[in-house]
Amino acid sequence: MNEKMAITSAPVAVIGAGTMGIGIAQVAAAAGHRVKLFDIALPAASRALEQLGQRLRKRVEAGKADAHSTETLLGHIQLASSLSDLADCSLVIEAVAEKLAIKQSLFRDLEAICSTDTLFASNTSSLSITAIASALQHPQRMAGLHFFNPAPLMKLVEIVGGLETSPETLSNLQTLAQHWGKHSVVCRSTPGFIVNRVARPFYGETLRALEEQIADPATLDAVLRDAGGFAMGPLQLTDLIGQDVNYAVTESVYHAFYQDSRFTPSLVQQELVAAGHLGRKSGRGFYRYGSDQVAPSATFASAVTADMPQSVTLHGDWSAIGEFAQLLTGNAAAIKHPGQTSPFAQIDEVTFMLTNGKTASQVAEEIGSPVVLFDLSVNYQHASVIAISSAEQNTVPHTAKVIRLLQSLGKQVIHLPDYPGLLVMRTVAMLANEALDVVNKGVANAADTDDAMRFGVNYPQGPLAWGSKLGWQQILTTLENLQRYYAEPRYRPMPLLRRYAANYSGAKC
Ligand code: NAD
Repeated sequence: MNEKMAITSAPVAVIGAGTMGIGIAQVAAAAGHRVKLFDIALPAASRALEQLGQRLRKRVEAGKADAHSTETLLGHIQLASSLSDLADCSLVIEAVAEKLAIKQSLFRDLEAICSTDTLFASNTSSLSITAIASALQHPQRMAGLHFFNPAPLMKLVEIVGGLETSPETLSNLQTLAQHWGKHSVVCRSTPGFIVNRVARPFYGETLRALEEQIADPATLDAVLRDAGGFAMGPLQLTDLIGQDVNYAVTESVYHAFYQDSRFTPSLVQQELVAAGHLGRKSGRGFYRYGSDQVAPSATFASAVTADMPQSVTLHGDWSAIGEFAQLLTGNAAAIKHPGQTSPFAQIDEVTFMLTNGKTASQVAEEIGSPVVLFDLSVNYQHASVIAISSAEQNTVPHTAKVIRLLQSLGKQVIHLPDYPGLLVMRTVAMLANEALDVVNKGVANAADTDDAMRFGVNYPQGPLAWGSKLGWQQILTTLENLQRYYAEPRYRPMPLLRRYAANYSGAKC
């Protein structure tokens, strides 16, 4: 049997039968491995296995799973009563408490029990793989194998190499992840790995907008979800993850990067945690759940009955958002004045422009005409919502005219205060900026970085593909304007962004 075949059929040990461990055991057993499950609390492990059996058998009763394969899967998992029972396993995955000393001591003990060929993997979310492996005599056999919750459902696994991890260890784990039906990405052991680092601005920008009283949670979530194309709004998602868990991840990444302001945790979220409003699990977070649930509703602009605008002409480069050009004019080829500038439409006397990190009032001041800015959307044709902001200089009819046009296209309009970069654009710019830093520092390659965000947190597009499609100059300009507005290093463009924007703006990453 060659080495690759051996790894895909050998017995696997899972240590820790909590939320993650039981899910990982299920994944390995479903792929045909014999699994030995060990936990210091044996009764808890036995209960977890029993509950897994009940859950899977319920699926059989509901006609959602096959009885034979379910019983085969369950038959593959056995409880181990001591670490020495794991001696014949070719791979040990630990999913125990998130404490460096516990994980180090566990692997030190295992090294005395298992063969020198046994691979060691940690499911840690935030600890350094290098630090865990430093307890080993053979640290080259150790890597991170970071599953996402729930492990059987989430497609992504981050394979994390520490300083001493050997290429063979990484390659064997890649083979295994593929055999388990997972999409794996490889990264270097750095704070947050890929997903928990690149995703920070997704939460951070909306939490900041909430702090700045831009809109209520339901409206902010609707912008990211129904206009932006993200599966859930950031606040809704933190309620699902748990405010305490999400806050702890942000704090950990923030401190690990020496208090870099681009990861600054939110005081609004800290207050929620302090109050015990942890989200769904406590019945209340940004929203309420359970019996006193109030269906949250976004605030949309009321229907405008004013006359439709008389003329709509398109200017600039609409190539990145061609479907919006098509929607606005019924004919994407109708761009009257194509050029290298950001896309904008002249709607009678009102300039209707994609936000670039300036406020609408700033733009109106510069160009001397009424301005309405629109936010980014993953697809303007399919989005049910478009978010806009208007200049203070506009009269009410100026803005009403644009809202009337958008409503006539079947869109709900969210009219936000005059907030620079609106919400989706500033979020995507920050995500792309962070992803570029990951690539620039050799944490992961571009394809893996995008895949991690698509498969780990279901983003509608990888941030790099999104930035590249939009044009790196647009991302750079947005961040530069935000940086000027806030006078904070939080929005500083990364070196690779400057290079991409200078060399081949709009080119593929
Ligand atoms: P959990 O608290 O649900 O389960 C941990 C289990 O480990 C418990 O059953 C506990 O009895 C057992 N345990 C503790 N110390 C042990 C030891 N020395 N030997 C054997 N068993 C021991 O925790 P979890 O949420 O499953 O997280 C486990 C690991 O996975 C952590 O490193 C965490 O950072 C990581 N992780 C968690 C999530 C998540 O969403 N929960 C996602 C990805 C990664």
